[in-house]
Amino acid sequence: MADDCSRPLDFETRQIHAGAVVDAETSARVTPIYQTAGYVFDDFDDGEDRFAGRARNRAYSRNENPTNAVAGRRIADLEGGVDGIVVASGQAAIAAAVTALAGAGDHILVTRSLYEGTREMFRGVLKRQGIAFEEVPDDATDAEWAARIRPSTRAVYTETLPNPLGQVVDIERIARLAHAGGVPLVVDNTVPTPYLERPIEWGADVVIHSTSKWLSGHGSVIGGAVVDAGRFDWAASGRFPQLTEPPRPGVASFADRFGAAAYLAYLRSVIVLEYGPTVPPTSTFLLLHGIETLSVRMDRHVASAQAVAERLVQHPAVARVHYPGLASDPYNALAAKYLPRGAGSIVTLDLAGGREAARRFIDALRLVSPMTHIGDVRTLAIHLGSTIHAKLTEPEREAAGITPGLVRLSIGLESVRDILEDLERALDAASA
Ligand SMILES: *Cc1c(COP(=O)(O)O)cnc(C)c1O
Repeated sequence: MADDCSRPLDFETRQIHAGAVVDAETSARVTPIYQTAGYVFDDFDDGEDRFAGRARNRAYSRNENPTNAVAGRRIADLEGGVDGIVVASGQAAIAAAVTALAGAGDHILVTRSLYEGTREMFRGVLKRQGIAFEEVPDDATDAEWAARIRPSTRAVYTETLPNPLGQVVDIERIARLAHAGGVPLVVDNTVPTPYLERPIEWGADVVIHSTSKWLSGHGSVIGGAVVDAGRFDWAASGRFPQLTEPPRPGVASFADRFGAAAYLAYLRSVIVLEYGPTVPPTSTFLLLHGIETLSVRMDRHVASAQAVAERLVQHPAVARVHYPGLASDPYNALAAKYLPRGAGSIVTLDLAGGREAARRFIDALRLVSPMTHIGDVRTLAIHLGSTIHAKLTEPEREAAGITPGLVRLSIGLESVRDILEDLERALDAASA
């Protein structure tokens, strides 16, 4: 990428060029799929250097692959971080990002509204590994936040625009509270993508993505990413010996060797190397093609979602529409601050007729696909209580705001007229 111009390149340019290198052998313009397990050493000493992380070249594709490296650098660039890595899924990104910070006996604070897969991970495998988590209520005061940060706390975890209810999180405030307690803020930015919101600009330290969603945008791959903002002072915090102390005698700490990118270096060369949540470069090739059109797609996604939300709020079968882009939505002021380009493309409807109305609605759809997944070119719909949130008890569903009539829509890129026609016909069927 040309770095010699006086101002930084715009987002729309960087989504196409950031991180890309023209292939030295073939001069191929498009980043190739480097479908290889390993890399030939120049000689004996080069092998030793690669294993010690002293050589620029890689040793093995489990944690380093040239196609994947372009995507890691590009997402880091778009988010404003110092380094990034792509992994096998959004869930793998969350697992890697959290286990790089916390182990048995440690504690993580989470905000109440989380993607259900993340909540399941905290309640499930992470808890069994001894990582405790604690939900902080949405209305907690600064003092209540401060009181919850214990000596064993290793991070605060949240989402910019929680899926499915869109309760926009005040990232600037949560970052301030996390930092006051000496811990980093980890933010899942899947739903807005860096085009709509860049949490690092508001103080986040680690950013996570499910690249399966809007970053790819075509619904054909599963992938994830972790980005390091490069600003957290691990040494001052004193809670992260894995970054600030020598890993073994005679080897400098990650902080000493990698400076601002210490966390990502640890994530890549320890967590991802040891657990192996590697994404196939074929998937990353498709991801890169998605990212190249991100801004154009997101503008259309949010315009259509806004139009759908504004129209459906008027339909008699709809008791409530959750979409922070609506002036009537309780999160509209936060959306104006954090999401000035649009409030994402998840629109969640609460049908007045509850579960039975949702059944009639889902079964009447013709164009919109009834399926799990979000951030596709296609418009998708899912009844939450019977699928994603089916494992919760009734009181847990109630506490999470998952009412019986709740249907999540992910608004795609079809003509908005066709989307609305299908949704309105299905809503008419729901109220019949
Ligand atoms: C889908 C999703 C994930 C999990 O990502 P996968 O790629 O499906 O593993 C994590 N966070 C959010 C907000 C998501 O929407």
